[in-house]
Amino acid sequence: MKPLLPLFIMVDACGWEIIRNDPFGKDFAPNRKRLESVFGYSSTCVPSILSGRWPVEHRNWCYFVYDPANSPFRSLKILRWLPTAITSRRIFRRWLTKFVKVQLKFRGYFDLYNIPFRHISLFDFTEKKSPLKPKGMNRGTNIFDFLEEKKIPYFVSDPARTEEQNRDELIQRVGREEIDFAFMYWAGLDGLLHMVGNQSPEVPARLRIYEQWIGQLLAAAKGHYEEVRLYVFSDHGMANCDELLDLKSKIEALPLKMGEDYAVVYDSTMARFWFLRPGAREPITQVLQQVPQGRILPDDELERMRAKFEDRYFGELIFLVKEGVLIVPSHMGERPIRAMHGYHPTDPHSYASLLTNQAAIPEDVTAIPHIYRLMERDAALARQRNQGKS
Ligand SMILES: [Zn+2]
Repeated sequence: MKPLLPLFIMVDACGWEIIRNDPFGKDFAPNRKRLESVFGYSSTCVPSILSGRWPVEHRNWCYFVYDPANSPFRSLKILRWLPTAITSRRIFRRWLTKFVKVQLKFRGYFDLYNIPFRHISLFDFTEKKSPLKPKGMNRGTNIFDFLEEKKIPYFVSDPARTEEQNRDELIQRVGREEIDFAFMYWAGLDGLLHMVGNQSPEVPARLRIYEQWIGQLLAAAKGHYEEVRLYVFSDHGMANCDELLDLKSKIEALPLKMGEDYAVVYDSTMARFWFLRPGAREPITQVLQQVPQGRILPDDELERMRAKFEDRYFGELIFLVKEGVLIVPSHMGERPIRAMHGYHPTDPHSYASLLTNQAAIPEDVTAIPHIYRLMERDAALARQRNQGKS
């Protein structure tokens, strides 16, 4: 028996609105709190949790940026001659994504999504390392650097394996009393919500499955650790998409050329622009100001969300749509999906959740980067108490 195991379980997209009226985890984690998320997608929310820092500090924000000088994709430009009927096929993209990821030695999550090959060499991909590993942040350290430095043995789930495989692996390692800290990342609910929306009966059904799995993990842990500190949390929520916005055709109606006058990345809920020639900013701004489904984010607001990058690395102008609007087509997808996240952090469905078996959640834990403090605190405590005991 070891004295203490801190068990952190991230259920992707299990937002506050998803669980607010659901008894999820009430038996084993009755203390729950709504947390503010971070502006951006999982590509920034997860690194913010893992590092305890905000986008401007760690610089893990949106995946694609305009950076032709550093683009690793130049060799893919040749594919622009292939018919779109092939290159826009999801199956082809998936195969090519795997191929490119290996070729370029990307260690994090990588997807070519729907970036046209005609323009791919304008862009760089910003997550070349995995934030789930030590030295995995674009800037600064994460919890795994802390654990390695303090020589705290830990479990972290492997994104290449299934949720069940990761669950079973953790149960085994807990059984061997090898670890003093665990970070589990389950991504399945996010994918389901994108497909079926937040009102589908499949969502509570999936929550019941997670309850079973957490129950199994807890049962295993309690057989080998006197105390288990359980935290179940999410990185963001999920909003249904009831309105589609074809922003691309509005911009392309202008007498401006992509790659010469301007560059843009159409994420699902944002469009990020770079202006390459004088005179390009004004007409684009005018078009955007006439789109009622969204707005240009002013600097002071970006600053409050700690997503105003002084070097404008992720875009010189950020246009964000209202909750429930989906930009289609975008560089993330050609076709609509039922639900999305990445809206303003104060939109109702953006909020994340934290559930725990601990009597108190510190008052200053109000946003997802603060989960890091709980991880660091409990990992250090477990190390201290478990030392020399197994
Ligand atoms: Zn998602």
